[in-house]
Amino acid sequence: MRLNIGIRLRRTLGNDFAARQTIFNCYYNYTRRNFNTFKSTRESASVRARSTRTKMTRYKQAFEDEDSSSIGSVALNSEGISTSATHIKYYSPGVLQGAIMWRARSPMEKCLFIVCAGLLLMVVVLSIIISSKNSWDDAQIFHVSNGEDGAHCLTEHCVTVAASIINSIDNSVNPCDDFYEYACGGWIKKNPIPDGKSMWGTFGKLEQENQLILKNVLEKPLNEMKSEAERKAKLYYISCMDPDETIEVLGAKPMLNLLNDTGGWNITGHFNISSWSLQNTMHILQNKYNMGGLFSWAVSEDDRNSTRYIIQVDQGGLTLPTIDNYLNKTEHGKVLAAYLDYMTQIGVLLGGEENSTRKQVQAVIEFETELAQITIPQEERRDEEKLYNLMSLSDLQKLAPFISWVEYFQNATVNKKITSKVKIVNYAPQYFKELTKLVIQYNKTTEGKIVLNNYLVWQTVRSLTAYLSKPFRDAYKGLRKALIGSEGREEQWRYCVTDANNVMGFAIGAMFVREVFHGKSKPMAEEMINEIRKAFTRNLKNLTWMDAETRESAEAKANAITDMIGFPNFILNATELDERYEDLLISKDEYFLNNIRVNQYTLRRNLEKLDQVANKTTWIMTPPTVNAYYTPTKNQIVFPAGILQSPFYDMENPSSLNFGGMGVVMGHELTHAFDDQGSEYDLHGNLHQWWNNATIERFKNRTECFVEQYNDFEIQGRHVNGKQTLGENIADNGGLKAAYHAYLSTPKSHKDQMPLPGLNLTHRQLFFLSFAQVWCSAVTSETMGLQIEKDTHCPAKYRVIGPLSNLNEFSTEFNCPKGSRMNPISKCEVW
Ligand SMILES: [Zn+2]
Repeated sequence: MRLNIGIRLRRTLGNDFAARQTIFNCYYNYTRRNFNTFKSTRESASVRARSTRTKMTRYKQAFEDEDSSSIGSVALNSEGISTSATHIKYYSPGVLQGAIMWRARSPMEKCLFIVCAGLLLMVVVLSIIISSKNSWDDAQIFHVSNGEDGAHCLTEHCVTVAASIINSIDNSVNPCDDFYEYACGGWIKKNPIPDGKSMWGTFGKLEQENQLILKNVLEKPLNEMKSEAERKAKLYYISCMDPDETIEVLGAKPMLNLLNDTGGWNITGHFNISSWSLQNTMHILQNKYNMGGLFSWAVSEDDRNSTRYIIQVDQGGLTLPTIDNYLNKTEHGKVLAAYLDYMTQIGVLLGGEENSTRKQVQAVIEFETELAQITIPQEERRDEEKLYNLMSLSDLQKLAPFISWVEYFQNATVNKKITSKVKIVNYAPQYFKELTKLVIQYNKTTEGKIVLNNYLVWQTVRSLTAYLSKPFRDAYKGLRKALIGSEGREEQWRYCVTDANNVMGFAIGAMFVREVFHGKSKPMAEEMINEIRKAFTRNLKNLTWMDAETRESAEAKANAITDMIGFPNFILNATELDERYEDLLISKDEYFLNNIRVNQYTLRRNLEKLDQVANKTTWIMTPPTVNAYYTPTKNQIVFPAGILQSPFYDMENPSSLNFGGMGVVMGHELTHAFDDQGSEYDLHGNLHQWWNNATIERFKNRTECFVEQYNDFEIQGRHVNGKQTLGENIADNGGLKAAYHAYLSTPKSHKDQMPLPGLNLTHRQLFFLSFAQVWCSAVTSETMGLQIEKDTHCPAKYRVIGPLSNLNEFSTEFNCPKGSRMNPISKCEVW
């Protein structure tokens, strides 16, 4: 649900992460070239840049951005191993047909065929020799499954995919000791983090491949675009690539113009405190330009009545990603120093005098530190029932009288009549109470007012420096290094492709799916989801802690989960797609202004919702996104086209690999409907208790087992936060189990049963290996620290070890002795 993490991060490196973006996604995406640029899925979330409270949970961490990874793949590429359909037939039982086909070949073809077959055989033999050299107790895993010797799958696809798996394994590690090291050790050795990156792994590798596809479509001539929206997306991309160097020529000018228009900034001069008011400044910066500061708000589904939209307010307004960044000065002294430098450099670039700038931005940091002190930590914000506070604007006015809320929202909504009776949901009353004291105290003195204005304008400036010339963008490097351990040296086109996707992802998505999405993927994915859903509901009967009535409701909720796969249909309809972007003006040489207009467009679209009935089919992620999510207010799981690709899913894969990859992602999202937060919503997506009280107690006891288990997991000298990651861990555990049982009960074709060459592993074992290898990755220690402090997902290693060590079925398949690390005596289980 609203895990602070997702979409919202786009702009700030996390700060208003307090504001809720409740989707449960599953992985990272975070700091872009400038942390302030972070606007990932700005449009798809269709929420204000600064706040957003679209509820969802993602599959991967909503974290580190451009970071990518490669599934240490493909040593045996097709070179020299030309396999074809003929070969499949040759090895298949259809001997007669094979014989007929053989006779039909020319002598040259026959000759080539024999050579190829010989080479393949060598590959297999060599692979077997290599893999049998392993030093862990190989007696444990030697059951080459079904069938006759030599009946391995030797298609090009099987050989390639097997080679990739072999390359990632570290055979010197006993899988019962550390399955992550066993599955990924080889990969980690062969894939050091590339220069300029702070993490590298499977997800990022696939993201990079998607970027290349997008580059190719965006660089096609304008007249090949199928709609006005696609043309606009291309123009936006051009404005970012900036072939004429307009951005460099303009330098600071676009920002200075904006500062003039918004009342000035004391740091760069041109500021008159006598005519300043907090209310007025917030109207201009936040309601006209959609910038953040002090708190966050957005229009989103009402948790208790998810068919309607409502204004939601929440804590927010920090710049650095975590509260700890401000409060733990011993740990984060480096980050704070780099932040101060960064702010000073930007101030100076905009015309500020260095010493005065440094002094003034230091005061802004102190103000933000005070905000951090009143910001409630994520781990204490997991109970949706407690967070939800419906109140009228007049209640809010009594609670937080530092501005006039009726005026504020009237100013934002323009055409809609706002009265003090208007209801809103407040997710952080305590924060608003404390914020009021803080703001009123600052607002008493001239110096205090200057700090308030400096802070609010800084929120605007930092959000926009990425759209300025190189010196502005380079200024961020030091802070980036301090935060995540790398300066980032992304090629410009990669940055621009991602940026364009964030801004106009559905137009770009149309081009993307035309290029790569296979029509058959949708029904096949649909089928997989249903198998997993069935496996999940079948298992409910085994859960002794559930009472009969709650079990029935749980089944009904699982069956009511809707899914969306690939992309929304409207994107392939030029008229509908054009309508969506009709209101957005894009010019090919106005990168900065394009972004100002995008912000305004996003805000307008969000506010329009106030007059609408909640739409259950809007997409939060764009089609090329390598991620997935669950939205509790819609009771819906979504899998964009971007993740329905290898290594998660491939139509040519044996089903073990697809269920281990994509199947687990699906199981994970489905289980979010039943994690500590998702389970508070009923089958209609309303926050409403559908459980029996005693069962809730037993559920909580069971989830406490996960909290303690994950608290014990340690990486690079730090402990995982079991409470903060609870929802994701429940989803990881339940998802793996459901996907495995779905795999077991799905009918297998011959292809699904033939062993892969070079791997002495059964398909059941391959299921677990496929699951684990999705998570092969490496991160810098800074990024690991940030991830542990901020992310609701635990580090990759424990996303593998945690769920596997809780699953008896895994230990059975790998013969892990009781009491071994991967088969501990005490296990946690909820679903
Ligand atoms: Zn998740």
